[in-house]
Amino acid sequence: MRSVRTTSGDIETAAVAVCCGVWSPRIAKMAGATIPLIPTVHQMISVGPIPLFADTVGEIAYPIIRDMDTNMYERQHGGDIEVGFLRASPDHREPRRDPLDRGVRAVATEMPFTQDDFDPQLQDALELMPVLLGDERVGVRYAINGLSR
Ligand SMILES: Cc1cc2nc3c(=O)[nH]c(=O)nc-3n(C[C@H](O)[C@H](O)[C@H](O)COP(=O)(O)OP(=O)(O)OC[C@H]3O[C@@H](n4cnc5c(N)ncnc54)[C@H](O)[C@@H]3O)c2cc1C
Repeated sequence: MRSVRTTSGDIETAAVAVCCGVWSPRIAKMAGATIPLIPTVHQMISVGPIPLFADTVGEIAYPIIRDMDTNMYERQHGGDIEVGFLRASPDHREPRRDPLDRGVRAVATEMPFTQDDFDPQLQDALELMPVLLGDERVGVRYAINGLSR
């Protein structure tokens, strides 16, 4: 009978579902298997407070914009608008650490934001949404280089 060895003992099972996100290739490798998944940088900023969204109830009341020409999306998140960018030529990165390393508070799939990489995209987003993003009353409230697959 096959089993999975965990920090809490062995679990006998005939099948294993690896649901470890960007760490999945590492887990598969431990069993001599391969999961063809490449962690890729996904930049995102959150801008707000957007006056238009002030009275909206819930997280999303306006449509999500997916701009395929620029590999970007703009979507409401409560009182903010999130502007995300997935590069045409992906930037492959390995997660900085083991997600189970409780010693570190930072989210393992969040890396420091690189403004220079995002600047051209910000111009595209401003061109698309000058009223929402060009408003002097709003600001960037959160910005990350996230890791997704
Ligand atoms: C900035 C950003 C914005 C995104 N926006 C969207 C969006 O709008 N819509 C969307 O659909 N997706 C979005 N995504 C992608 C989405 O976050 C991922 O596709 C999704 O989280 C993947 O889910 P998952 O369960 O496969 O992996 P994860 O959510 O990464 O979960 C994997 C889990 O496995 C755990 N783990 C890893 N190794 C081990 C181990 N050895 N032992 C035990 N546990 C382990 C980790 O701690 C983690 O909890 C975004 C990603 C980023 C970075």
